[in-house]
Amino acid sequence: MWKVQLFKLNYDQRETQAVADVVNSGWITMGEKTLEFENQFSQYLGKDVRAAALSSGTAALHLALLALGVGPGDEVIVPGLTFVADINVVKMVGATPVLADSVSTDDWNISPAAIAEVITAKTKAVIAVHFAGFPCAMDEIRAVLDDRRTKTGQEIFLIEDAAHAPGAEYCGQKCGTIGDIGCFSFFTNKNLSVGEGGMATTRSEALDQKLRHLRSHGMTSLTLDRHKGRSISYDVVAPGLNYRIDEMRAAIGLVQLAKLEGANEQRQKLFQHYCRGLAPVTEVSVPFLGFENVLPSYHIFPVLLPKGCDRPAVIASMKGEGVQTSIHYPGFQNFTAFRNEGLAETPVAAEIAERELTLPLYPTMELDQVDLVVDALKRALAKG
Ligand SMILES: *Cc1c(COP(=O)(O)O)cnc(C)c1O
Repeated sequence: MWKVQLFKLNYDQRETQAVADVVNSGWITMGEKTLEFENQFSQYLGKDVRAAALSSGTAALHLALLALGVGPGDEVIVPGLTFVADINVVKMVGATPVLADSVSTDDWNISPAAIAEVITAKTKAVIAVHFAGFPCAMDEIRAVLDDRRTKTGQEIFLIEDAAHAPGAEYCGQKCGTIGDIGCFSFFTNKNLSVGEGGMATTRSEALDQKLRHLRSHGMTSLTLDRHKGRSISYDVVAPGLNYRIDEMRAAIGLVQLAKLEGANEQRQKLFQHYCRGLAPVTEVSVPFLGFENVLPSYHIFPVLLPKGCDRPAVIASMKGEGVQTSIHYPGFQNFTAFRNEGLAETPVAAEIAERELTLPLYPTMELDQVDLVVDALKRALAKG
C-alpha cells in the first residue's frame, strides 16, 4: 500500500541466521551472545565504557533512575519534547518530572538555560535526549550542573537518553558515554534494531554493578555461571527486577551493531538529499542544521511545517500519494495521564509539537524515494 514507508528494517540473511544459530544452540537467555553484545557495544562506545544489555530502552531509563537513587521527593528535569517514556519512568519511581523547554525551533534539544531556570534544591537528575540523533549541548548542560554543585554542593546526575543516538558523537565522544548513565533503545524502528531491547552504559564500575543487580532480581550470579559450574547458589543484594534481554535479540544486536556505521552513513546521505530537495521549499524548515563538532546518527527526518498549516490535511494528502509520515512527539500536557499534573508550559516544544512532521528515513531507502516524498510534500502544501 505504501510507496514509501516511514521505516523499514535493515535486515537480511545474517539476522535470520543469527537467530537460527541461537535457537539451535539450545541456550536462549543470558549466555555468550549477550556477553558478546555487551562487550562489542561497550568497545564501540569507547575505552572504559561498561554496558548492560536490557529488555528495552524504557528498562534502561527506569534502571538508571533506580541506580542513581532517584525516588519520592526528588525532581527530575525532562525535555518538553520527547517520547513519553522519559516522563513515565520519573513517575514510576515516585519522583516529580519537571519540564525544560527546547532551545529553539532550529535546535529542538533541551535548553541548558532552561535547565538552569528549573533547577531546585530537590533536583536529583536531568534526562537529556539527543533528539533525532542530534547531540544535545552536553558541555553547556554539564556546566550548568557543575555551577550548581560549586555554589550549593548539590550533586545532580546527568542521564542521556540515547535512544535516537547510537553511533552519534559530540566533540568526538560517543553519545551515551558523556553523562553518568546512557540509555539506548533497540526497538524495531531505532538505528540498531532487535525488536525489543536496550542497553544501559556507564563509566562507573559501581553504577554498572547496580544496573546489573537491578536487571536480574538483585542476584549476585547469573544462570550461566551456575550452568558453567562457576557458582552453585546466589545472594540477593537488593530488590531488583527482570529486565534481561534474551540470546536471540542479543545475536541480532551483534549483526546490527556491525551494520550500524554503514547504516548511519546511508542515513546521512539521505538526510543531505532531503535538505537539497527541500531547500527551495522555503516554508518548510529542517532543524539541527549547521551544528559543529557533532556527528549525528540521523535517526529520523523531522521538518517544521509552516505556522497555521493544516497538518492532518498534509498527512492525508501524502498518504494519498503512498507516503507514510509520523509525528514526534505530541506534547505531554495533553495526555490524559499528565493533564492534571501541573506540568510547566514549554512554549517552544509546544510549537514544534504542533508543526512537526516526520518524513520517511531508513538506511535502505533510495534517493529517488526521497525525491518522491519531497514532491508529495510540495503538492500537499500547495493544496493548503
Ligand atoms: C524509543 C524511545 C524510548 C523507549 O525505548 P523502548 O525500547 O521502546 O522502551 C525512550 N526514549 C526515546 C527518545 C525513544 O525514542
